[in-house]
Parts: sequence; structure tokens; C-alpha cells
Amino acid sequence: MIDTHAHLNFSQFDKNREEIISKCLNNNISIINIGTNYKSSCDVIEIAKKYNLYASIGLHPLDIDEDFDNKKYKELFCEKVIAIGETGLDYWYKPKGKEKRATYKEKQKQVFIKHIDLASQLRLPLIIHCRVAFDDLYEILKQREVKGVIHSFTGNIDELKKFLSLGYYIGINGIIFKIDLKEVIKAIPIDRILLETDCPFLSPPGFEEINNPMSLEIIVKEVSKIKKCSVSDLVKNTDENALKLFNRIDI
Ligand SMILES: [Zn+2]
Repeated sequence: MIDTHAHLNFSQFDKNREEIISKCLNNNISIINIGTNYKSSCDVIEIAKKYNLYASIGLHPLDIDEDFDNKKYKELFCEKVIAIGETGLDYWYKPKGKEKRATYKEKQKQVFIKHIDLASQLRLPLIIHCRVAFDDLYEILKQREVKGVIHSFTGNIDELKKFLSLGYYIGINGIIFKIDLKEVIKAIPIDRILLETDCPFLSPPGFEEINNPMSLEIIVKEVSKIKKCSVSDLVKNTDENALKLFNRIDI
């Protein structure tokens, strides 16, 4: 299995990062760690090189107080970098005041478009974070030819259909234990699902408090129940999907 969205670079793993990574690798779980700002983008590359994992580089929409310098990020590119993100739009934490809100949204859109440009330049897929901003996200993506995944998808069926029609993959994680996404999951074709944990966040019930990629086993069981397919079929398909999107044969 491939955890297509992890943050093992975060400080929650400072004490046991190596232990968790070797446990995952021993259980045939490969990992893509996701950068959320410049420093963490450097960190995920370092971890990828050290442990033979993979990395995605970008500036999270809630971190845009920091500048996104396309050139600086481009210079980070190496064979371990297989995607751009996480990037996207997050209107959940809106600043108070109409004007401030409008500026905030505008800035997120501009930074997101810069990520799309970088992804096109490097011919890499996007790892997209989107919270209560699906309309704006769709407007931006439909005008551009770039592929990617909408990670931790929380939209409704209509929103799902729009992104599927653009060719996007849909990332499913432990959030399915917190909000009811059953109908959405049923509607995602098996060749468009990616599995992820978003660890250290979104730990499934009964798993360790600080989530890690080993919880993929719980997520895959739940999704296979909802989709009424076997765990092995789901694993096979989602693995193939990840390899296809990230264009790798060696994950
Ligand atoms: Zn994330």
C-alpha cells in the first residue's frame, strides 16, 4: 500500500520517526510525505533521501503568510519530488470583515495558481487541499491542464462529479470516521481512489492517538466495506492509481 499523504516530517514524530518508517516499510507500506511550507518541503526531501521514500513540495493555503517563490521551490526539485503541494484553497478559517476575507481568498487563489504553474513546468501532479472552496477550486482547475488529487475529500456528490470529470483522483483518509462520506465513496470509481492518512492527524477510532501510515489498514478495510469489494482488490487498484498519477514504477 501507499500512504499518498503523510506528514512524518512533523515534530510529533521526532522521537519515533525512524521506528515508524521501518515498521511501515517492513509491512510494505510506502510513503509520500507532504511539505506545507518551504522548511517542511526541505525536510520531506531529506527524509525521502534518507529512508528511500517520496516527497511533495508546496505551501499550504493556510501558510501563505510565507511567500511562495516559484524559483526557490523549483530549485528543490530532485528525483525524490513526485508532486507539488499541498496547495489549494481553504476558506474555513475566514478572517473577520468582508474586505479582509476577500483579500484572503484572492491571495490563496494567486498562490494556488503559482503552484499550478510550477507543476506544469516540472510536469508533476498536484496534491490539493480544499475546504469549503470547491466552486472556486473548480473554476481555477477547469481552465488549466494539470492532473492531481483532491486530498481528504469532503465535498458532496455534485462536487465529486465535477472533479472526476476533470480527471482528478480523490484522496480518502480517516476523516471518513468523522463525517459521513459513504455515498461519496460509493460514487468514486475504483480507478480514481487514492488512500492516505494525513498523519499525524485524523487517526481512525481504535488506533494510536498520533496517527501514522500503519492505520491505512483500518482505512482500506472501511472503504472496501462501503464499496462492497475485497480488500485485496482495493489495495491493488489504489496502488495502481498512485503509481499512475505519480508516474513511478519504484514506489
Ligand atoms: Zn496534509
